[in-house]
Amino acid sequence: MIPYGKQHITDQDIDAVVQTLKSDWLTQGPTVPQFESSIAKKVKAQFAIAVNSATSALHIACLTLDLGPEDTVWTTPNSFVASANCALYCGATVDFVDIELNTGNMCVQALESKLQLARQLGKLPKIVIPVHFAGQPCDMREIKSLSLEYGFKIIEDASHAIGAHYCNEPIGSCIYSDICIFSFHPVKIITTGEGGMAVTQSEEYAKKMRLLRSHGVTNQLLDFEQPSDGLWYYEQQELGFNYRMTDLQAALGLSQLSRLDEYVLARNQIAQNFTSLLSNVSGVEPLHTKSNIYSSYHLFVVLLENANSDYHKKVISELRASGVYAHVHYIPIYLQPYYRKRGFKPGYCPNAEMYYSRAVTLPLHPQLCVDQQQYILNSLKACL
Ligand SMILES: *Cc1c(COP(=O)(O)O)cnc(C)c1O
Repeated sequence: MIPYGKQHITDQDIDAVVQTLKSDWLTQGPTVPQFESSIAKKVKAQFAIAVNSATSALHIACLTLDLGPEDTVWTTPNSFVASANCALYCGATVDFVDIELNTGNMCVQALESKLQLARQLGKLPKIVIPVHFAGQPCDMREIKSLSLEYGFKIIEDASHAIGAHYCNEPIGSCIYSDICIFSFHPVKIITTGEGGMAVTQSEEYAKKMRLLRSHGVTNQLLDFEQPSDGLWYYEQQELGFNYRMTDLQAALGLSQLSRLDEYVLARNQIAQNFTSLLSNVSGVEPLHTKSNIYSSYHLFVVLLENANSDYHKKVISELRASGVYAHVHYIPIYLQPYYRKRGFKPGYCPNAEMYYSRAVTLPLHPQLCVDQQQYILNSLKACL
């Protein structure tokens, strides 16, 4: 079976982890700060805060932007559930903005009309979380300019998009956002096993996120609110969590990061090959790629022309039967039973639902050889 995603672990990665295992620190040692500063430099952010998952990063990012029970977060329905759950962790309300059918990203026009309506109702969101779906950056300039007009903060969910660029700047530079988060789950671009990172240009946000990832506790003399009792003294100043990344994970991440450009280039080359192989196949087309971006191609998604759900099922099951592990990204979040119980109904975001009934994710990872790429496309053609 050709899997839809697969990590790539080298001897260099293994050596890096073994070296850390033999060192004095398995966690809270020197490797996490090293990984943080390397990521910060790579994505042109001033501050980076490593955590144990992107989900944790989203949670502490929301808390850092003061999200609470009176507030609302808007995100896209075409994402993994974590993009929405982070709002609920803070007791806030979550709502969804429909997508562009041809990219799978949050639709700026839909966002603007929803904002206009929300302003009349006095229900503007505090935070908007765009997701760079499949590795293609959203229209961040437009979203940023709406944020200035309507007064919301922006967290980029860049779980798919480390190594991607928008208007010639790396995703993570936070030119159009307050905080940007990455995932290092094994199916993503680079991995730490489990892990995530929040990056920002704001020292205040960085400080707050550092506090929240480790119990809300600080041992920094200059930050104490009370006089220190002595050298052992530490202070809990917020209700934080244990969301720390280990040095073992950071060692793997650092080693993986050295191959980020290589991985993203390989993903682009495979995507280009898929696109050209698809040009003479009818009944299916790849997602549209915009001109001012460089995608990290976390996923390669094609849309079936035929939106019939039985046909969709047949295509996916025939692909799997032929050894191609096709998948579907994503089930609109609000159609999950948990969200339906909170009042969401089918039909809420028509584009996301139309997209869902037609989307097929083909396997894509940097080690996919040309023969496998051809096999995947032949198998797709055979079941259309
Ligand atoms: C994978 C993913 C997450 C969650 O990442 P974890 O590191 O597994 O917590 C969040 N958002 C999106 C869009 C993702 O793809």
